[in-house]
Amino acid sequence: MNKNIMEYDKKIIIWGADNRAHRFMMDYNIPEERVAFLVDRKKEKQDAGFRYILGCEKKEVCSPDILNDIAVDEFLWVITVGQPGEIIEELQKSERGGVNTFVYPSELLPCRNNLALYAMWAYHLENENRRNLSVADLKEKYNELFNNKKFVLPRMTMVLTTRCTYRCKECIEMIPYLKKHEDVAKEEVFQDIDNLVSNIDECVFLELIGGEPFLYKDLDAVLEYVVKEDKIRNVAIVTNGTVTLSEDMISMLKHEKLSVIVSDYGISDKPRIFVDKLREQEICVNVLYEQEWFSAGGCEKRNRGMEELKRQYDKCHAPWWCKTIYKGYMYACIRSIGLYDLGYIDKKQDLLEIKSNCREEIEEFFKRDWCDACDHCDWYTENHRYCRAGEQVNSFES
Ligand code: SF4
Ligand code: SF4
Repeated sequence: MNKNIMEYDKKIIIWGADNRAHRFMMDYNIPEERVAFLVDRKKEKQDAGFRYILGCEKKEVCSPDILNDIAVDEFLWVITVGQPGEIIEELQKSERGGVNTFVYPSELLPCRNNLALYAMWAYHLENENRRNLSVADLKEKYNELFNNKKFVLPRMTMVLTTRCTYRCKECIEMIPYLKKHEDVAKEEVFQDIDNLVSNIDECVFLELIGGEPFLYKDLDAVLEYVVKEDKIRNVAIVTNGTVTLSEDMISMLKHEKLSVIVSDYGISDKPRIFVDKLREQEICVNVLYEQEWFSAGGCEKRNRGMEELKRQYDKCHAPWWCKTIYKGYMYACIRSIGLYDLGYIDKKQDLLEIKSNCREEIEEFFKRDWCDACDHCDWYTENHRYCRAGEQVNSFES
């Protein structure tokens, strides 16, 4: 959707009363009076209202029951929640004339392959967590990105190990099914980081992932290495929260650049205990309570046509602004790692070797509008189905 939001003169209703709503208003310079109100299913948000971080007035947060009382087609609906399909359907059911619905950020961004816009979005996200950028700083960032054409990566993920404490049946990376489970040598990780930063001006978020990154034996050395790298602004460790951390690791995590993202699938008490422990120590921790996933389906080739693959990649949205590094290569999508390991795809489309002096190749890689992995994945296709998050291979097989 390349339409300029300012072309609509309707009042806006934002579905999803959280930080994304705020980012949407910042990114598109939406005056507060343009927003009629917000909608959110969560009762606590309805009770609390919505407070903008940078000093806007409080707005009312309504329950979806409001759809029965208003003319849905008189508003422009901006949907900021993760899986907008159902909401769009719900709005369409109440439609009388023609409902205008837009998904933020995926559809509202004026140009999908505009990495600078995603980088700007990432700076706002950083600011929500760390409150380290003033409005003047954000304007300067904007200027650097759009006028000085600095090359900033919004988010990168880096696989440190394919070992994991879980064997999730629907792991998008296909960890349980890989041929080998091993740690990447720390020297190789350092080399990848050096190569990456030699090509860019900044990376806003680097996420260290696995498998389970807290199983990685040289995590302390890697953390020391990345926090010293000025071009990497924030480092997050993405974990399933099942590993007991040493006191040394806990003190290391207090570094201002570091945070921990915990995925809690509700299949064990360990993540809750893990999170409590980190919070006691005032470590920055974000928890994702995941009960359902999209199932990516099997690895087999679906033989989709190019238009279909491009549509799928576009809807999936993540690969436009985040790639994954693993053992000297940048992968178009995290699923490509498993598919490549298992021999389902070759290097041509989905892998880029990272060397020093390959900035143009990286830029081009981010601009690609499809990847081979999509032909081995059901996300964002009509075949997609939901599955239980964290369901284990063993329990399924037994
Ligand atoms: S915990 Fe994460 S990385 Fe490990 S198997 Fe499950 S989904 Fe994959
Ligand atoms: S394979 Fe395609 S649809 Fe599946 S997760 Fe990757 S980019 Fe998204």
